[in-house]
Amino acid sequence: MYVLGTLQDGGSPHMGCEKLCCAVQKSQDYVSSIGVVGERQSFIFDATPDFVSQTNYLKEVSGHKSVTIFLTHAHMGHYTGLMHLGREAYNAVKTMVYAMPKMVHFLSKNGPWSQLVSLKNIALMPLQENQTVFLDQSLSVTPLKVPHRDEYSETVGYLIKGKNKTALYVPDIDKWSKWNRSIVALVKKVDYAFLDGTFFADGELPRPMSEVPHPFVSETAALLGSLPLKERQKVYFIHLNHSNPARNSAFKGRLDLERLGFQFAAFGLSFDL
Ligand SMILES: [Zn+2]
Ligand SMILES: [Zn+2]
Ligand SMILES: [Zn+2]
Repeated sequence: MYVLGTLQDGGSPHMGCEKLCCAVQKSQDYVSSIGVVGERQSFIFDATPDFVSQTNYLKEVSGHKSVTIFLTHAHMGHYTGLMHLGREAYNAVKTMVYAMPKMVHFLSKNGPWSQLVSLKNIALMPLQENQTVFLDQSLSVTPLKVPHRDEYSETVGYLIKGKNKTALYVPDIDKWSKWNRSIVALVKKVDYAFLDGTFFADGELPRPMSEVPHPFVSETAALLGSLPLKERQKVYFIHLNHSNPARNSAFKGRLDLERLGFQFAAFGLSFDL
């Protein structure tokens, strides 16, 4: 399993940002995504605006030619990469796209996405909440519904279970307290937890942050802070907004959390499943 991107939907440089956080374009600084290498094919979680570079990397490290997609929701950072599968670009043949029912409906009924369906560039594979999909002998995926701004689709995170280990991927969620599951219990259950780290703390944006609710990294760290070190070390923050000061590895707030065992996802990090 590979980290293929760590940024929030808008990436960096972020449209309109003239601050230091977006002054320099770093290489391989992509929107949040995870790649998983199966026995005969690879899987990518979310089709981001950086989909081409991310699938190229995944194909290179896996040696697989085909990549199957799992989508979390219909926000721009998570599905618009599908455009590269259409006739104007790759003209894919039945690339499998797993998605939840409202997401399937959204893609089927709205152009330009519906053309990918009608021309069979993509084959939509409907998922059901909490229903595990077995992808090969030693790989399975389970969608977990999460509370989020669901304008066009529902939103899910994924449990990805390999031969020996399990990963949790939740790039977007409003607040842990709004979820009908305990993130503390889930972290204990898995081996790696890639968690929404969009904003570091309140006050980071010059607008009311309640309009775009996310668990602040500082809140998540406090919530999981009483767990033993080996549990805290499972946590990798991902989906960082361009403004998140923890994108800078020398930021004191980040260093303090790293001393407690919490980690920050980085492109190319690999994990055994
Ligand atoms: Zn997002
Ligand atoms: Zn910026
Ligand atoms: Zn979102």
